[in-house]
Amino acid sequence: MSAADMKIITVIGSGLIGRSWAMLFVSGGYNVKIYDNQPGQSARAIAEIKKQLVELEEAHMLRGELSAAQQLALLSSYDDLSQALDGAFFVQECVFEQLEVKQSIFHDMERFVGKDVILSSSTSCLVPSKVFSKVQNRSRCLVSHPVNPPYYVKLVELVPHPETAAAVMDTTHALMTKVGQAPVLLKKEIDGFALNRVQAAIIAESWRLVQDGVISVKDIDLVMSEGLGMRYAFIGPMETMHLNAPKGLEDYMSRYSENITRVLSSFGPGPCFSGLFLLSRPQEMCELIPCDQQHLSARQERRDQFLMRLAKLKKD
Ligand code: NAD
Repeated sequence: MSAADMKIITVIGSGLIGRSWAMLFVSGGYNVKIYDNQPGQSARAIAEIKKQLVELEEAHMLRGELSAAQQLALLSSYDDLSQALDGAFFVQECVFEQLEVKQSIFHDMERFVGKDVILSSSTSCLVPSKVFSKVQNRSRCLVSHPVNPPYYVKLVELVPHPETAAAVMDTTHALMTKVGQAPVLLKKEIDGFALNRVQAAIIAESWRLVQDGVISVKDIDLVMSEGLGMRYAFIGPMETMHLNAPKGLEDYMSRYSENITRVLSSFGPGPCFSGLFLLSRPQEMCELIPCDQQHLSARQERRDQFLMRLAKLKKD
C-alpha cells in the first residue's frame, strides 16, 4: 500500500474510546470516518469532539500541527457501515466490550474492505484469537489497546493474533507513533495483555494489604500516588532497579533479589474480592470520595486535569 492510499481511517463505535481515537487520528492529519450502529450517534460524537477540540485549543493542549477547525474538517459521520469503510486503509473498532458484538462487527466489516486493510480492535480484555475468530484473513488483524484517557495517556498495546503479519504490526506501530502515541509491541497474545496484568498484580496486593488490616484504603493509595507512582510516570520498574544500585540491574539483583523472593513467597494465592469484606472496604472508599455521580464526576475531571498537566510536563 502506498502512502497516498493511507489517508483514511474508519472508527467503528463512537463512545468514549471511539471519540478519543478519532481525535488522535485527525491530530495526525488523517481523514477519519466515524460509524456507529445507533442512528445519529456518530454525528452527535462529532459535535462532542468539536467542543473538546475547541477547549483543547484554548488550553494550548491541542495535539498535532493543525488548528481545531482544520482537524474538525477531517471528520465525517456515517450510519452506514459500507460507506464508512469505503477508502479506509485502517479500521479501529471501539464497540461494546462483548465478544459476540466484536466478532459479529469484524465479520460484517470483512465484506466491505480490501484484503490489505488493517483491522484493529480496542478491546481491553479479549484476546485477538477470540475477537477475530470469524474473520477469514486474520493476518491483517491485531488489538491496539489504548489507556483512558488516550489523549493524555499515550500508551497503546499492540497485540498480535497468532496469524498477524509482521508488516501489519510495523504499519500500526508507525501509525501510532505518527499520531503521537507510545506504542508497545507484545510478541504474542496473553490474557490481560501487559498493562492489565501489571495492574492486576498491583490491585491484588493493595487489596490484600487492606483486607489483612495492614494499611487503610487511604494510605495504600498514597503508597502509589506519593511513592511508586512518582517515578513510574517517567521510568519503569526495569530502569528503576537499574538506577537503584551503584552498578546497575545485575548489581541490584545481587543485593535485593533474595528479599524480593522472600516477600513474593509470602503472597500466597490471589485475594478474594467477594464476600463480607466487600461490604466494608468500598464504604471506606466512599467515605473519602462519595459514590454519587456528582462527586465521582468531579474526581474524574480532577484526574484528567492532573493527567493533562503531567502529559505537558513529560512533553516539556
Ligand atoms: P462505549 O459504551 O462508550 O461506546 C461503545 C459505542 O459502540 C457506542 O456508541 C455504541 O452505540 C457503539 N456500538 C455498539 N455496538 C456497535 C456495533 N455493532 N456497530 C457499531 N457501533 C456499535 O464504550 P467505550 O468505553 O468507548 O469502549 C469501547 C471499547 O474500548 C471497548 O472494547 C472497551 O473495552 C475498550 N476500551 C475502553 C476503555 C475505557 O476506559 N473506556 C479503555 C481502553 C479500551
